[in-house]
Order: sequence, then structure tokens, then C-alpha cells
Amino acid sequence: MPNNMLKFVGLGQRMPDKRLAAERRRDFQEIYAEFEPARAAEQAGRCSQCGVPFCQVHCPLQNNIPDWLKLTAEGRLEEAYEVSSATNNMPEICGRICPQDRLCEGNCVIEKGFESVTIGSVERYITDTAFERGWVKPPRPTRELDQSVGIVGAGPAGLAAAEQLRRRGYKITVYDRYDRAGGLLIYGIPNFKLEKAIVQRRTRLLVDGGVTFRQNFELGRDATLEELRQRHDAVLIATGVYKARDIQAPGSGLGNIVPAMRYLVASNRKGLGDAVPEFDSGALDAAGRRVVVIGGGDTAMDCVRTAVRQGALSVKCLYRRDRANMPGSQREVKHAEEEGVEFVWLSAPEAFLGEREVRAVRASRIHLGVPDATGRQQPQTIEGSHFNVDADLVIKALGFDPDDLPVMFKAPELKVTRWGTLGVDHRTQMTNLPGVFAAGDIVRGASLVVWAVRDGRDAAEAMHRYMRAKSPGAEPAVAQAAE
Ligand code: FAD
Ligand code: SF4
Ligand code: SF4
Repeated sequence: MPNNMLKFVGLGQRMPDKRLAAERRRDFQEIYAEFEPARAAEQAGRCSQCGVPFCQVHCPLQNNIPDWLKLTAEGRLEEAYEVSSATNNMPEICGRICPQDRLCEGNCVIEKGFESVTIGSVERYITDTAFERGWVKPPRPTRELDQSVGIVGAGPAGLAAAEQLRRRGYKITVYDRYDRAGGLLIYGIPNFKLEKAIVQRRTRLLVDGGVTFRQNFELGRDATLEELRQRHDAVLIATGVYKARDIQAPGSGLGNIVPAMRYLVASNRKGLGDAVPEFDSGALDAAGRRVVVIGGGDTAMDCVRTAVRQGALSVKCLYRRDRANMPGSQREVKHAEEEGVEFVWLSAPEAFLGEREVRAVRASRIHLGVPDATGRQQPQTIEGSHFNVDADLVIKALGFDPDDLPVMFKAPELKVTRWGTLGVDHRTQMTNLPGVFAAGDIVRGASLVVWAVRDGRDAAEAMHRYMRAKSPGAEPAVAQAAE
């Protein structure tokens, strides 16, 4: 064991420098600075190089974390990058926005007593450095193949699959209904968690590697699924989930009650320099308003923190469970509290009050009852516990379900599960239609970026096997990272 590891006993956990809340509230820039090289090496050196690394077990990509930590501690950054990028198509993005407290870092063995190794920040540092130093190359194959793949959806699942298949030499076209590639990385997740330039840097790499992007192309409107099947040897559906869950309560039709994605897309577009009439008219701008966000997941956290930055008068988050039982990351709650967000735990909306526009949310207190079959304690309303929260902008962030895909894609034969997600054979990632595969949120339901990357990689492998079986003569090129 080299003596630059195992430093956790004498060296405490130190994240990269975090900007002060008062400064963060005024802009949309990321809140953490980049690691200084010496500090990254030091922090990586806190790893105890476990024989059974639980960090790796709990990373959906099974990243080889101990190895790249060791290489970073030894200053061998290019090798660290090679190891880290071997299992992850966007390590700098996962390093920024994975809920590490629930995944790798939350399962680091030194977490008990010594605080975990700062795995995510080191992962981000390695790949940001690799980009700076020109080590990250477009996915150029050594040999072109004749077979072509159509990928519908340019979110992390689609992009990861595109890169993997392009490396093998397939011709790739990515179709997306938005005007920019990136899916929720661009239009959902705000800049202060993930700057847009970081996502665009990834997409550019794919373009440079020969992937064709067809933006403003909606499957179901601009082509049917059957037409894409005719055009390509295999098709991947990676269209995510976008149907917002709603609240059925008196007054829910009042003005200034908006769904989270409409609010976030407008804010993200504004940040990207687009003309956004709905924002400019004030309808989706929180400036000077009392904002109430309903929900307790990542989307709700992004809404409250966006509202703070837009200059809201006050921002409150109503959630029906308590802090310990919320689905969003605890780190995000901490950031939000530092930035001035007030959490009203154990409360649920009962009605929206106002004449034409909302003026207040009537809520009730909640008691958490016995766990149901899923193991989660069920919220129960406490009778007579009403209270009002003033509001002139209410944002509903209650989660997402899939759209009616067979109708949307004009493909009645496409089978969906009872939750509306796409059913796939988990050995082949294929739907019930031969040559049509699926990955990401549209298979799992609303999940995480790191799972979308994992699914995209698995689907790419399965599609490669399928196409090779269809055309055994076309032996694929060896996957290659360098030009
Ligand atoms: P998406 O990213 O949704 O991409 C799907 C793409 O398909 C989109 O570009 C869409 O335009 C396109 N599309 C849809 N229908 C069609 C069609 N008919 N034709 C053509 N194109 C179509 N995860 C984390 O890990 N960390 C976070 O901090 C985090 N924060 C989040 C914040 C918000 C506000 C939201 C909503 C989600 C967040 N998530 C987070 C979850 C994460 O973004 C998703 O799990 C992930 O993006 C799913 O990837 P995907 O590729 O399956 O789908
Ligand atoms: Fe942790 Fe996510 Fe990186 Fe895996 S991909 S090591 S879970 S930050
Ligand atoms: Fe290192 Fe923690 Fe992973 Fe063990 S669990 S290998 S200490 S990062």
C-alpha cells in the first residue's frame, strides 16, 4: 500500500470551496469551485482502498472508484481519467449531480466516524482536468459499419448509447423534439447544479465523432415509430417521462399555479439567452413574489433554489413527509436552507385560495402512519389542522409519469407496463417490437442521470449483439477512445 493512501485518520473531509449563500443567491453559477490539484490528491488519498469497496457496489455504473482515487492521489491523472471514463460516459456530470449521499459516498466505509471520501468531487475534477488538457477525444471508430441506429431522445440515456454505439462504428442519428440536445440536463436541471456549457461540451464531442443530431424532431409528429424502424437497423427509445402529476383540490384552476417543468424550462431558456415571452411577461418569473413549491424531490429542490435566484420575496416548500423521508438529496435541502428557503415539513395542500389568481395555499398538517407494502410510512391528514400559506406563485413539483406512448408514437402494438413505462426484456433491453430497444426514465420511471447512463450503455451492448446477429459478416470495429 503506497503511503499516499489511507490518510483519512489524520486528514478530515474537505469538499471543494463552496460559495457563500449570500453570493449564490444572486446568480445561477455553480456553487462549488473546482478542487485545487493538491487538495484533490490529498482528499483522494483519504481512501482506505477497501478489499470490498462498498462505494463501487453502490454506484449504478460500478465505477472503479478505489483505482481512480489511488491514481489521483499519486498525481497520475491521465490514467485516472482512463479508468474513470471506461465505465461512465459523463463522469464530470455525475460527479456534479449524483446524489452521492445516497450512492457511492453514503456507502463509503470511512463514512462511519470519519466522513466519506469526496468521491463525486474527485470524479468531476479528474474529467474537467482531462477536458482542459485535451485528453477527452470524440468517439471515432477505426472502421465504419453499414448498419445504422436511430436513437429517440437526447437525454443522458440516449447520449450514452450514442457514444457507445458510435465507438463500434455504427451510423448514429439522434432525434429529439427539443432544439438542443441534453434532455433534462439542459432544460430541467438548473445551471447552479450543472452549467450548460458542461453538457454542451459533451454533445459537441459526439457531433465531432460523427453522430448526427436531428433536433426539433418529434416521434409521433414528424415520423411514426414504424417509419424509424424502416429507416434504421435498430431503434432506441429514450424519451424520458414528462407527464406532470397533478393536484386535485379546490382552486387548482386559479392563475399563477404552474407545473414545475414549465417553470424550469423557462428559467433555463432564459439563462441560455432565448427569448421567453412567458418569463418576460412576468408569468413565470418569481421576482418579488411569495413562492410556494409543493413536493419534496429533486425537481422541487431545483424550483425553490431557482425562485431564490430570481429574487422571490419568500420561498416556502410544502412537503407531506419529513426531512428524513423525502426523496430529494439531503445535500440539496441543506443548500436550499442556506439560501433562505423555508421548509414546511409534514404538510399537504388542501385548497388554493384567491379570486382569479392564487393568493394563498390552504394546507393541513400530516402525521406519518404505519408503513405500507413499500415500507414507507403513509401520510395521514390531522383533522382540523388547517393553516394558510400566502402565495402569489405556486409551483407543482409532484413527480412525473410517462405519456401514453402507443398513442404518442402512433404505435398501438408497442407494449407498456401498467405504470405506462416501456416494458423491456431485461436480458436484451428490447421492447416487444423486434429491433426496438428502450432505456432511461421511460423504462424505470423518473430516476437519476447515473441510472440513465447505465441503461444507455446496457442498451447499446444489447443493440450491438442484436445487429451482429442480424448481419454476422459485419464484424464491428474495436471500441476506441482516441482519435
Ligand atoms: P431525459 O433526460 O428526460 O431525456 C429525454 C429526451 O427525449 C428529451 O430531450 C426529450 O425532449 C426527448 N423526447 C421526449 N419525447 C420525444 C419524442 N416524442 N420525440 C423526440 N424526442 C422526445 N437526476 C440526478 O441524477 N441528479 C439530479 O440532480 C437530478 N435533478 C433533476 C432535476 C429535475 C428538475 C428533473 C426533472 C430531474 C432531475 N434528475 C436528476 C433526474 C434526471 O434528470 C433523469 O433521471 C434523467 O435525465 C433521465 O434521462 P433520460 O435520458 O431517460 O431522459
Ligand atoms: Fe458516485 Fe455517481 Fe460517480 Fe457513481 S457515478 S461514483 S454514484 S458520483
Ligand atoms: Fe475508498 Fe470509501 Fe470506497 Fe473504501 S468505500 S474504497 S474508503 S472510497
